Amino acid sequence: MSQKLIVLMVDGISADHYTAIRQQLPHLMALEKQGFRIDRLHAEQLGVSLAGRVSMLTGHTADQSGVFGNKTWDSAKQAFRYATPDDVRVPTLFARAQSAGRSTACIGAGMIRPEECDLMVPPNWVDGWAINRARDPEPVPADHPWQRVVDAPPTQQFLDQCAKFSLLTDYPAQMEGFYEPWMLMCDHLIADWVGAMAVADPSPDLIWAEFCIPDHVLHGTGINSPWSNWTIVEADMAVGKIMQRLKDAGVQDEWNIAVMGDHGFGPIETAIHLENIVPDISYSGEGAVAVVHASAAEFAEIVTAVAPYGVEAGPQTMFPVEMRDELHLLIAPDKYSFEGVYGRDRTEPTGAPGAIATHGFRPGSPLDDRMCIMAGANVPQGKAAEADATQAASTMAKIMGLDTGSFPAAPVF
Ligand SMILES: [Zn+2]
Repeated sequence: MSQKLIVLMVDGISADHYTAIRQQLPHLMALEKQGFRIDRLHAEQLGVSLAGRVSMLTGHTADQSGVFGNKTWDSAKQAFRYATPDDVRVPTLFARAQSAGRSTACIGAGMIRPEECDLMVPPNWVDGWAINRARDPEPVPADHPWQRVVDAPPTQQFLDQCAKFSLLTDYPAQMEGFYEPWMLMCDHLIADWVGAMAVADPSPDLIWAEFCIPDHVLHGTGINSPWSNWTIVEADMAVGKIMQRLKDAGVQDEWNIAVMGDHGFGPIETAIHLENIVPDISYSGEGAVAVVHASAAEFAEIVTAVAPYGVEAGPQTMFPVEMRDELHLLIAPDKYSFEGVYGRDRTEPTGAPGAIATHGFRPGSPLDDRMCIMAGANVPQGKAAEADATQAASTMAKIMGLDTGSFPAAPVF
């Protein structure tokens, strides 16, 4: 039985969106037919990108893993900052595979420490989003976790495989005005790299990759727009390209494949600008939820101030216990999100949203449910109506033949 696994995370592909357009996705449908589909894989609360990735990698809830949002509270800096792989407090599938003597490759995926990979190809979004060397006022220190990810050198085997398939060995430089084509090109390059490494001799035991353009286009054009549907069709084509490479090399039976989203998506009609309601508020907008840094007394005043806008306090269960004195959750009403002013000309408490769709809804919202398909020699044929976010990692560990006893939740099959 093969215990090799390719994980393809498609950023923002919700359970509902997948169901609506799956007939347009022949490669994913082929995997579905031969493997196992979870109709609704619930999201980590909060249903945002970095917390979703860490949930997939660890199987722990955010209060245990330490990564509850895209941003975390840095008590040394007394500021919110983007989460990094070093914020993850529990073992990842990469660390578990490594200690079981298995080889691992991160190909363009985020929240994985370079020390836990035999091959680290950084995600294309790190430079410019998590760190920005052109924009950050201070130079990014070399030991900054995201800088370590960027600086990790590729292996000779990766360079050899790129040469064999005439592939670029790094993301192409961005060109002004061509951001979306660049993102799409990066996703396809990642798929090419996955295919090239999966047919290498020897090939890694675990390959983890992600396709990011769907999330970006979903935010900008909405759910089920021709544009966002097209990005998911592109992700399907990228999956097909990988499957064809495996077939050409005669190694398709050696591999299991898992495809899933990191969170879902829902429509937004109005943005709430918290800084125009509570001028000195310290917060991180995480979609339709916001994480607020405040004392209990300050937060009570904030809740009173935002109540006229339908905003209410939410649970703190996603925060590590020691952060609960100072971190609090606000939940926006239906079809509202929290968007920062970011120096733009927005002086009103609410306004037209920059993103007409988003993720990170009220904890447990079905809008954040995502699609999930697994297929391969170690995956039974079948279907589950739903599964918890915590079950994704233990299920993937089981496919790889790793110990599943120390995961908080049981595998789906
Ligand atoms: Zn995402």
